[in-house]
Amino acid sequence: MPALIEASCINCDMCVPECPNDAISRGDKHYEVDPARCTECIGFYDKPTCIAVCPIDCIELIA
Ligand code: SF4
Ligand code: SF4
Repeated sequence: MPALIEASCINCDMCVPECPNDAISRGDKHYEVDPARCTECIGFYDKPTCIAVCPIDCIELIA
């Protein structure tokens, strides 16, 4: 279940330095998660840290 950044992302850059797998980068319109790199932060944090730091709650885990 990788993280997915929704279109409402305001490109604030808060999540990028927090990702332990360098899975987040700036996309054409908003930040994006590379699903091949996202591990839900397992082994690093108890919960997905990008979701924890996003100020507008625009990241979710997808099935
Ligand atoms: S859940 Fe963790 S590994 Fe996945 S994109 Fe967010 S910070 Fe990176
Ligand atoms: S923290 Fe949230 S609003 Fe900011 S760049 Fe990341 S996904 Fe977008």
